[in-house]
Amino acid sequence: MYFIEVIIPLSLSKTFTYKVSEKEYFFLKKGMRVAVPFGKNKVYTALVIDLHQNSPILYEPKEIHEIIDEKPIVNEIQIKHWFWIASYYMCSIGDVYRGAMPSALLLESETIITQKKDIEVDEKELTDDEFLIFEALQHQSSLKIQDVIGILNKKTVLPIIQQLISKEVVSLHEEIQEVYKPKLVKYIRLHPFFEKEEELISLLDSQKSEKRKKIILAFFQLKAQESKPISVKQLLEYSNISQSVLKVLIENNVFEEYAIQMDRVNFEENQLDKKLVLSKFQETAFNQIENQFKEKEVCLLHGVTASGKTEIYIKLIEKFIDDGKQILYLLPEIALTTQLVTRLTEYFGNKVAVFHSKYSNNERVEVWQNVLKSSETAQIVIGARSALFLPFSNLGFIIVDEEHEQTFKQQDPAPRYHARDSAIVLANSFDAKILLGSATPSIETYHNCLSGKYGLVNLKERYSNVPLPEIELIDLKDNYFRKKMNGHFSFSLIEKITEALSNGEQVILFQNRRGFSPVLECLTCGHIPQCPQCDVSLTYHKIKNQLRCHYCGYSIAKPSNCHQCSSLDLETKGFGTEQIELELKSLFPEKNIKRMDQDTTRGKFSFEKIIDGFKNREIDILVGTQMLAKGLDFDNVSLVGILNADNMLYFPDFRAFERSFQMITQVAGRSGRAEKRGKVIIQTYNPLHNIIQQVTNNDYDGMFKEQLYERKIYNYPPYCRMIKLTLKHRDFEKVKDGSFWLYQVLKQNLNIPVLGPEEPAVSRIRNEYIRTIIIKIPNDNSLQGTKKTIQKILNSFDMVSQYRAIKVVVNVDNY
Ligand code: ADP
Ligand code: ZN
Ligand code: ZN
Repeated sequence: MYFIEVIIPLSLSKTFTYKVSEKEYFFLKKGMRVAVPFGKNKVYTALVIDLHQNSPILYEPKEIHEIIDEKPIVNEIQIKHWFWIASYYMCSIGDVYRGAMPSALLLESETIITQKKDIEVDEKELTDDEFLIFEALQHQSSLKIQDVIGILNKKTVLPIIQQLISKEVVSLHEEIQEVYKPKLVKYIRLHPFFEKEEELISLLDSQKSEKRKKIILAFFQLKAQESKPISVKQLLEYSNISQSVLKVLIENNVFEEYAIQMDRVNFEENQLDKKLVLSKFQETAFNQIENQFKEKEVCLLHGVTASGKTEIYIKLIEKFIDDGKQILYLLPEIALTTQLVTRLTEYFGNKVAVFHSKYSNNERVEVWQNVLKSSETAQIVIGARSALFLPFSNLGFIIVDEEHEQTFKQQDPAPRYHARDSAIVLANSFDAKILLGSATPSIETYHNCLSGKYGLVNLKERYSNVPLPEIELIDLKDNYFRKKMNGHFSFSLIEKITEALSNGEQVILFQNRRGFSPVLECLTCGHIPQCPQCDVSLTYHKIKNQLRCHYCGYSIAKPSNCHQCSSLDLETKGFGTEQIELELKSLFPEKNIKRMDQDTTRGKFSFEKIIDGFKNREIDILVGTQMLAKGLDFDNVSLVGILNADNMLYFPDFRAFERSFQMITQVAGRSGRAEKRGKVIIQTYNPLHNIIQQVTNNDYDGMFKEQLYERKIYNYPPYCRMIKLTLKHRDFEKVKDGSFWLYQVLKQNLNIPVLGPEEPAVSRIRNEYIRTIIIKIPNDNSLQGTKKTIQKILNSFDMVSQYRAIKVVVNVDNY
């Protein structure tokens, strides 16, 4: 009897045993996919993780339907890493498997396939089976895998569908809403007819218009200068001739316009012979990193904004490329890839591959296969979180850029993993080096540096010695009192904006909020009520007219006067970017003002559009939320204004101070990156607040020491590990009782702090009521052991019949 052990891509913690024939047994290897029947009439793509001869005791194993792969598509290192993620982040291995693989590699009976639109299909290229499916799709808009099984009258259909996907004949239904259309850049080339020199000469002779001649000649000069394709924009700029002239030439078939997807360009052509020369400071940092790597696996590059961290990464990548290693470059935000891809391909050409969730299935599968083959075309992978799951076999170096960014933590769905932390574990299994980079490192990372666990390298100078921006504080209390405000703008901020704009420079304004905000603020003294037992501000709950603490459940009725100065002038606080934009438009009616926040960047390319518009200087003032704080490089911004620094400070979260420091410093870092020293204006009610002072004095160390002390006093990470449980159900009473039951049992069985059950500020989402419980695991407790106990308790919670329907979300190291 021969068996295999597989993972099924469902939220199931167990692996499953299936029966295989002797022949299959000796063909199969760990990491290959098989199609298996599961439940009633369902088929799933399962992953083989073991081969054995032990018949399961509890159930009669079924036979597999078919073997999908010829060779493993996942390495054993990945499988091991996935199990680590499942265990550390307390989720099922099925969730990890599902989250790790591009969905085109996970076909299942519920998968719906449709014909790809706007695609010419060459029927001769299709096999008989493929053609039958193609034909069926001419009569109905979509097919389920079961239908395909019926049409072909056989069980083994997944490889056929896979083929159709890679031939771009069909696509998965889910993709219909999720088609990623990378930016198209328009290029220009000569009509092939004019490739012959004599044709060209007669063409030039025949042109009566001087302008047309000039543009044709300009084209040739450009072509002589570089081997890259020539973009329309480039040609117009170079020749200084208007679009309409070029248009005539295109209409007359002299030129042809064509488009290339920005991130699928043949990167070969991007590659320049440019030699990167590091500055003296960069060189020193580079050498120090290399030294650190002699002893340590992990190193932090703490480099101020615009110090040229990317250039140091490039130099390091070069080294690992020479050693033939694979390199993974993780970014916190997909939107940043375009800028980075352009920079990296200049040095590494086609060795650069991009992988992220907005790519089509096909593109993701392509990168997956290339990484699996250790192909040179994917030796350097740039990606967001999920690139971590690619099947590397020879990984030598990982970069986690902007390592402090909270977007590295996946919130929903499971696996709720932190990509930086998981990357460190992954690097470890490869004996690879990992470099974390940030101008504002997270407290946890810096703590690990100072304790000697990670290496630390500082880079304190900006590239080409531009000084860090000058920061000016505006006391809002004083300015409101002296009536020196126009709406939310102080007169000084308005003056500075006017000045910058009249110099032809651009302005960024930062307001960290979209909608309303739930804190109560005194307009006279700026006081915001705090929880006496935790280091967070109380949150205003409109419905109950209460102020509550989200961590310990402390609550008071909404006060009618300020506890600090007795003023009656209290306001539930919050003004969003939208209001700022409106005020700006009336202050500067002639200027082009754009807003960048979650509301304006919902569309696929809206983000790129705003960034491009700003880069091209079409936009004068950009107003935005924290999206602006993420590593963008603009060269004409001389002023950054922060409208209200306080609402970040009083966010109900133990990381609020750390994050405020990071966010303000990062936004400020967008100012004056090229030549001139930039300016930053921070409006605040608390100019003397330590965080504001630390930002102003560029005092990261001061911030770190103070925050670390607070974390120690109030028992927060890195002095403990936190696990957050979120319970959800449509029945209010059920959640309330269930969460209390769970809290009690946890409290009784774990001899550690359990807080809650708490009603979060948004206590009902999509008609589900929510309660949360926080568990703090002290560092000297066994993490593994405690998690096991928690898991056991969660399992028994699931056995209580009246609570079974309550959903429980487990978030380890919650952010
Ligand atoms: P950081 O990521 O540290 O904020 P960047 O890597 O974006 O900084 O660098 C800031 C700017 O300085 C970029 O426009 C970059 O091209 C330029 N720069 C940095 N180092 C060099 C170098 N060695 N040679 C040429 N340009 C550099
Ligand atoms: Zn509290
Ligand atoms: Zn007050």
